[in-house]
Amino acid sequence: MLAAPRAQTPSFDLIIRNGRIVDGTGSPWYRADVAIRGDAIARIAPRIDTPAARVVDAAGKVVSPGFIDLHTHARRGIFEVPTADNYVRQGVTTIFEGPDGGSPIPLRPFLDRVSATRITPNFAMFVGQGSVRDQVIGPADRKATPAELDRMRALVQQGMEDGAFGLSSGLFYVPGTFTPTAEVVELARVAGRMGGIYISHMRDEASRVTDSVRETIEIGEKGGLPTQVTHHKVIGKANWGKSVDTLRLIDEARARGVDATIDQYPYTASSTGIGSALLPSWALEGGRESTLKRLQTPSSRSEIRSEIIRIIKDERGGGDPQNVQLARCDWDHSLDGKRLGDVTKGRGQEPTIENAADTVLWIIERGGCQGIFHAINEDDLQRILRHPATMIGSDGEVPIFGQASPHPRSYGTFVRVLGRYVRELKVITLEDAVRKMSAYPAQRTGLADRGVLREGLKADVVVFDPNTIRDRATFEQPHQYGEGVSVVVVNGQVAFEDGKMTSARPGRVLYGPARK
Ligand SMILES: [Zn+2]
Repeated sequence: MLAAPRAQTPSFDLIIRNGRIVDGTGSPWYRADVAIRGDAIARIAPRIDTPAARVVDAAGKVVSPGFIDLHTHARRGIFEVPTADNYVRQGVTTIFEGPDGGSPIPLRPFLDRVSATRITPNFAMFVGQGSVRDQVIGPADRKATPAELDRMRALVQQGMEDGAFGLSSGLFYVPGTFTPTAEVVELARVAGRMGGIYISHMRDEASRVTDSVRETIEIGEKGGLPTQVTHHKVIGKANWGKSVDTLRLIDEARARGVDATIDQYPYTASSTGIGSALLPSWALEGGRESTLKRLQTPSSRSEIRSEIIRIIKDERGGGDPQNVQLARCDWDHSLDGKRLGDVTKGRGQEPTIENAADTVLWIIERGGCQGIFHAINEDDLQRILRHPATMIGSDGEVPIFGQASPHPRSYGTFVRVLGRYVRELKVITLEDAVRKMSAYPAQRTGLADRGVLREGLKADVVVFDPNTIRDRATFEQPHQYGEGVSVVVVNGQVAFEDGKMTSARPGRVLYGPARK
């Protein structure tokens, strides 16, 4: 029987012409056209003349895989702003949630809700060790019983079956901080057996940062799974320079076969709750009511106060109350964006560290605030960025444009790496930066069909001008989109072009290796 006559060469939905291809692998750029059909990259060749429904001219521009952000708190905002403009406008096409040990338990109803909310970027999750422990034990500082450990194992297994890509921890936070290493190992083993990774906001990023890296490596080694130090940084002037040691530990671990990696955001300030950052963890045990009770007892109040003074001096406070900035205070938004020293002055006191500690107690008693802490050194940042095992993750959220005073990382992380650290400071090459934002996080999480520009893979693509790309969000004025990205394609559909989000909402929920 004769074969049916060959159909005409099929046309494409979109061709991106004349760009410089930075394919995500780290290989030097080359010139080619990229043709997309449906949700996939159909062809990459020096010149594609086939007709296409749409053609984008990328002359003078870079064409790369869409960026993958392994560490976001996108739950903050994704349902209000399902287009996640702050991420998509930077070229981010996939965001991961559930970092720092915090995720919904169970995951499935949450993922179903995301799936039903037509969003623009793809969305993936980790299951959080802190949330698992909180559900079984609560915010108590004690070991798990064998029965509790079994229940926690079952919840991690369920998280993986619901579609998580691994287990996250936040051993700095309550209740993660109350978890012995061996207990984390037990849960990591469950995630690892099911194909997941372990990613950790470590127990301490200040004076005990090297011990914390050792612990993260140990959990990967004993748990038998890939392990990652997330948003790696060294906090507090007394500790600056310790990235030399932490990176050596990572190198040594890798040399003996432990799959340990890093991610990072490109800013010298961190952001988290004022209470978590400036109060000792014992003061937070049992939850807010217990903390307030401790503050009513003069002896424990003064103990907490002296700990805050120490933390402002040597750790997260950066040695000066002006290095602590309030990002969002839900009980008084007029404080958003203000510095702790200025708030202290506003309360009629000299902005000394001691008086600032009283302001912190006052803030905690009123309900706490999200804070920004300027206590990281640029040399550590650049040293970590240069490391071959470092990828980029924002640790950001989906801000509501113009509201509060969030850390600029939500708007600027990816374009800042490409503008400031690639073009201006030449800390890493363009190809390496793109690798750290695409193929590397894709490989890390097992997203085999994304993160590289290659025929047959999903068409998540970003077109940008390497000569103009830059971040504009600052700590004073965070609500500013970056510049230089011209087109963003998610699952084959144009989501951003000509400076505007389109009406497409092509994002999908991506499920991990053990999804049932
Ligand atoms: Zn974190």
